[in-house]
Amino acid sequence: MEGNYGRYEERRRMVERLKDEFNISDRVARAMLKVPRHLFVPPQYSREAYLDHPLPIGFGQTISAPHMVAIMCDLLDVLPGHRVLEVGGGSGYHAAVVAELVGDSGEVVVVERIPELAERARETLSSLGYSNVKVVVGDGSEGYRDRAPYDRIYVTAAAPDIPKPLIEQLKPGGKMVIPVGDSVQELLVIEKDFSGEIKKTRWGGVRFVPLLGKYGFKF
Ligand code: SAM
Repeated sequence: MEGNYGRYEERRRMVERLKDEFNISDRVARAMLKVPRHLFVPPQYSREAYLDHPLPIGFGQTISAPHMVAIMCDLLDVLPGHRVLEVGGGSGYHAAVVAELVGDSGEVVVVERIPELAERARETLSSLGYSNVKVVVGDGSEGYRDRAPYDRIYVTAAAPDIPKPLIEQLKPGGKMVIPVGDSVQELLVIEKDFSGEIKKTRWGGVRFVPLLGKYGFKF
């Protein structure tokens, strides 16, 4: 999906800064160069769309900072053809970047608990031609069984612990990236080997909104 939706120069500068500061891969940089972040943020924040910070998207939620999207994509090592589950779809921006990485032979399944955000994300993604992304409304702490198992899973809200259904819905050989914690949060990389064993690696401290739901924080 070769995007030409304006503001290319700002996007290019943002991606160059991310490469310098966070050493992000060329593949992820190319994907981010294609996705017009300004079309995923509310109009009143459009001017700030290519600055590297989170922005409000309504309902008390945020679109993550571009560097966090880039880092999570690199940690997840998304490849063409992968089936990927995103928990916490928000604006749909992160899903669009992942959709670029999986390509037309892959699929991104997005679960978002707030129906209005899911609807807006669906509209934005479809207006940009992302036919390989499916947005569903629901409690993503339970995963999404209809399309499981997944090559990759990432969660964009902090969970109290790793939700069991997400581990179950990860393919052997698969990877998951998830922030875990309450006031102190850590980004974890989970790898499931072919015997079903789980290996956890700690990436470092992060700040995300809470994952609310059956296997998340209670309302
Ligand atoms: N990835 C998003 C983007 O690109 O805009 C940003 C996500 S925002 C930081 C976290 C999202 O997780 C919010 O939209 C919130 O409503 C959602 N969320 C929280 N708990 C959830 C759950 N149990 N299932 C699905 N979505 C959830």
